[in-house]
Amino acid sequence: MIITALTARAVNVPLEYPVRTSVGTVATAPLVLIDIATDAGIVGRAYVFTYTPLALAATRDLLIALGTVLAGQPAVPADIDRVLEGRFRLLGATGLVRMAMAGIDMALWDAAAQRLGVPLVEMLGGTRRPIPAYDSHSMDGEALAVERAVRAVGQGFSTLKTKIGYATLAEDIRVIRAIRAAIGEDVQILVDYNQSLSVPEAIRRGKPLEAEGIAWIEEPTRQEDYQGHARIRQALTLPVQMGENWFGIDEMTKALDAGATDLAMPDAMKIGGVTGWLRAAALAHSRGIPMSSHIFQEVSCHLMAVTPTAHLLERMDLAGPILAHPLPFEAGCAVIPDRPGTGIDWNEAAIARYAV
Ligand SMILES: [Mg+2]
Repeated sequence: MIITALTARAVNVPLEYPVRTSVGTVATAPLVLIDIATDAGIVGRAYVFTYTPLALAATRDLLIALGTVLAGQPAVPADIDRVLEGRFRLLGATGLVRMAMAGIDMALWDAAAQRLGVPLVEMLGGTRRPIPAYDSHSMDGEALAVERAVRAVGQGFSTLKTKIGYATLAEDIRVIRAIRAAIGEDVQILVDYNQSLSVPEAIRRGKPLEAEGIAWIEEPTRQEDYQGHARIRQALTLPVQMGENWFGIDEMTKALDAGATDLAMPDAMKIGGVTGWLRAAALAHSRGIPMSSHIFQEVSCHLMAVTPTAHLLERMDLAGPILAHPLPFEAGCAVIPDRPGTGIDWNEAAIARYAV
């Protein structure tokens, strides 16, 4: 199966709820949609998320440039990974380069599984099973936080996440207690500071949160500061969670070596696509670290099914409006689609509407 062409299209997709964090708001989902065509008639599909529309055009153009390298090559993920690692050895495979490479990798795995006629999870040696998920919310303010929590529990979720880092610790606690009062003791609450606190402030705020039944405290300080995360972790009994910003398993290795975190939550794109995820899953397994996913729910559901220390899939729907088959959830679990590949296929009418 030989690659004949790569197409990359930029869209800016509306969100049901803006992703508000203590360090800024993501109002829309800027995505680059990748189609890798092959001489077998199979098209591998994936998308990458650029966080800000400012990076959309550059990411799309980089992918189109990479398409000229891929044309004529066998559609084999491991081989293309080696080729692209070589091409970017001098520049460095991080940032937009890593994102583009990961998008290509995910699209190639999709094509490979389609060629076998099986869902990606089966190609990876797993089976379609329900993947426990949590519903991921924003820094919504008390009223909306409670409304979304009640709705999530009504949909069957037994874990949810809220972003905090309000102006004061008192506000953080007020929102958590309001959610807890609305949903009861049986639902797990996770909190995410989105890197917004200094190390001393994270310890000061984290201590009283220990009494609130929080199941993890995510990125309490700057994600690059592994030593700082380690100090916070030593000072608190709350499990520390991080990983969505690790660009490749080298960063994951450094974070784990520093003792930065109890839990891991790589992002399928930043960690390096399916290929990068499998390496990260092996690393988490060897260190005994529970591993969750970060966004990219359509590909992550397949990957979580073959992750030895699989913990929770994040349900945050960034691409649903432009997908022909948005990922379904039942009883708090992601339902892996029974279609060949990842199951990603486009809703072309929606793409035309949100094209950039
Ligand atoms: Mg986060």
